[in-house]
Amino acid sequence: MKLTQIHSAETGIRDITINGARLWENLMEMAAIGATDKGGNSRLALTTEDSAGRRKFISDCQALGMTVTSDAIGNLFCRLEGTRPELDPVVMGSHLDTQPKGGRFDGVYGVLAALEVIRTLHDAGLQPKRSIEIAVWTNEEGARFTPAMMGSAVFAGIMSLDDARARTDAAGVSVATSLEKEGWAGESPFGRTFNAYFEAHIEQGPVLEEKGLAIGVVTGGQAISWLDISVSGNSAHAGTTPMRNRTDAFLAAAAMASGLEQVAAEFAPAGLLTIGELSITSPSRNTIPGEVIFTLDLRHPRDEILSQFDQACRESLSTVAAKRGVQVSVEQHWLSAATPFDSDCVELVNEAAITLEYTHQRMISGAGHDAIHIAKHCPTTMIFIPCAEGISHNEAESIEPEHAEQGANVLLRAVCSRANQ
Ligand SMILES: [Zn+2]
Repeated sequence: MKLTQIHSAETGIRDITINGARLWENLMEMAAIGATDKGGNSRLALTTEDSAGRRKFISDCQALGMTVTSDAIGNLFCRLEGTRPELDPVVMGSHLDTQPKGGRFDGVYGVLAALEVIRTLHDAGLQPKRSIEIAVWTNEEGARFTPAMMGSAVFAGIMSLDDARARTDAAGVSVATSLEKEGWAGESPFGRTFNAYFEAHIEQGPVLEEKGLAIGVVTGGQAISWLDISVSGNSAHAGTTPMRNRTDAFLAAAAMASGLEQVAAEFAPAGLLTIGELSITSPSRNTIPGEVIFTLDLRHPRDEILSQFDQACRESLSTVAAKRGVQVSVEQHWLSAATPFDSDCVELVNEAAITLEYTHQRMISGAGHDAIHIAKHCPTTMIFIPCAEGISHNEAESIEPEHAEQGANVLLRAVCSRANQ
């Protein structure tokens, strides 16, 4: 391989683009590992299928002369040495594990777009100034072991290694046992300094497709508030209690839900509200519910607006409770601040989309991603591409080859610009 030293985005990178057909072929090869009968993928974290996907990826990296290391939670790092290997690397990546009946592109796209970037540099004989690495984070999906985004959390010091290793799957098998069985734990240190981290990903929402845009320039992750709500009325006999004498906790909760929907409308479209769990305590079909508990998931890109949203929800709950004669209690279960991405990295992605003349818009990430954790560790951003009807975590997940190619071209330019700075 002839290596030409390049020192800026203006030389070398300007004229090269990734090979879209090769990227697509590689995506389809990976999709054959753990393929499901309805055209999706099942490669649960740290299973033999996950390992098979990783091994294929590693051999493709090694064929390009990349070195491969892993850390104690099994995160993989495949490295293309730069001309100044003493400098901190620029890292691309995502995950190869999937939901039990997952799609072919969630996570996989980011890893294989990164591989295509390296292949393109290799073909062109270009060596960047900084080393470039591809990270494959362990257990992003959280489908076999909770929590999701485990590998990146341990790497970034958000979760302890001991805590992660002790987590077990439904069969009682621990992360520690699975790591040992599959052989992925290595000695690369946690929290190693990265110059920057770029993650390409399918949007997993409908916005880009609806607007006919090719690229989402992701500016950060949204703030999240999880509330636990408990509504207390009086349980009583379903057959003997007149309607006017009842304090039905469920009907009060139903009125609260419709009040909350009105609050959400005031914070739309950026504010999102979901009641994902609801249960009647000691349920019985011939007893008027005395207590109902439900969860509330509130999201907004801005911390201060989320806090107003949260407050408005609490006021609405109290108003309905007073009207209905029930007691309501609200407890904060979890609060996660918004994660703004690094403005320089975001700008590199934006400039790449402009230079390549791809339609694009700035947007925030609705879902959690490894990049949200890594953003606490180093300058970070993401690149989104459209997916059909926003469907993800589903075997029907689908993308257009053209979008896959465009996203990888943006990744190539943004990463190489950063690596040559
Ligand atoms: Zn993902």
